[in-house]
Amino acid sequence: MLEQISELKAKALEELEASSSLIELDEWQNLYLSRKGQVKSLLKEIGKLEDPQDKKAAYGEINPLNKELERLLEERKESIQKAELDQQIASEREDTSLPGTTGGQGSMHPINTVLEEVCGIFERMGFQIWESPHVETDQNNFEMLNIPPHHPARDMQDTFYVSEDVVLRTHTSPGQVRAMRALAPEPIRVLLPGTVYRNEQITGRSEIQFNQVEGLAVGTNITMADLKGILEEFVHQFFGPDRRMVLRGSYFPFTEPSVEVDIDCNLCGGSGCGVCKKTGWLEILGAGVVHPKVLANGGYDPEIHSGFAFGLGIERMVMLRHGINDIRHFYSGNLRFLEQFD
Ligand SMILES: [Zn+2]
Repeated sequence: MLEQISELKAKALEELEASSSLIELDEWQNLYLSRKGQVKSLLKEIGKLEDPQDKKAAYGEINPLNKELERLLEERKESIQKAELDQQIASEREDTSLPGTTGGQGSMHPINTVLEEVCGIFERMGFQIWESPHVETDQNNFEMLNIPPHHPARDMQDTFYVSEDVVLRTHTSPGQVRAMRALAPEPIRVLLPGTVYRNEQITGRSEIQFNQVEGLAVGTNITMADLKGILEEFVHQFFGPDRRMVLRGSYFPFTEPSVEVDIDCNLCGGSGCGVCKKTGWLEILGAGVVHPKVLANGGYDPEIHSGFAFGLGIERMVMLRHGINDIRHFYSGNLRFLEQFD
């Protein structure tokens, strides 16, 4: 029996020494010191011994062993806890002598790249950038542009009203009136870039905010031919010298006559595909000769002065150039989308 006790002691001490985690210590405690553990079962064996001398000698060995194992368990537990804590502190400490990690380098958003490019093309043709407010009066946004109160464009569905007669501009056109009033009766060539706002359902084709670039030229003897000339120059510089352009009759309240401008579809070469809806042409912008009422509202005499205006959507330009089919990508903040334009 004494031999069994001595074997148990050797095995228990060896395994305790080998335990390196609190979980292993739990298992060890279960194996040796629990109610069904090996020490208890040995005690039961000793109780069955017949010789009182043997019994006494065995108890004399096993009782101190029981106490010693409990003490050693506590010691081991403390030392493992301390080691784990040290390790945690070491892992959290920063080595300030290490070289730093740099954040990724950002790049221009494709909308800004194209906005700058479009503005650059017209600036080289003599247009001057003119900034105008994003929050506009109802009068500048609509009435001055020949959009009367009953006009469907003023519908609450499409316009963000700040108050009864103040809106978030739904187009860059109110800047036309501001520029004309500031500069009349001098001839002007201004470019009005910026964000516009529409109270619309967000879909792959429409966003509640997007960017327009509007151009306005006013002077004497300015005709549709001048408009066509500068737009053709723009198309050739932006889309390439071989792209064809056509003007299609249209209607806008602030121009008369009004046109929509199409370029030939580069995907199908003009033979018709899904992107150009089988027409062979892609609409890129709206334009026209400035309506006499708008000229008068801006302080010009329609009998003497004439002008043209055009407005294009920057998102549409980026989509056409890069073959992007969902406008929501631009404002998604998705780096995988944006990194394509680095
Ligand atoms: Zn096509």
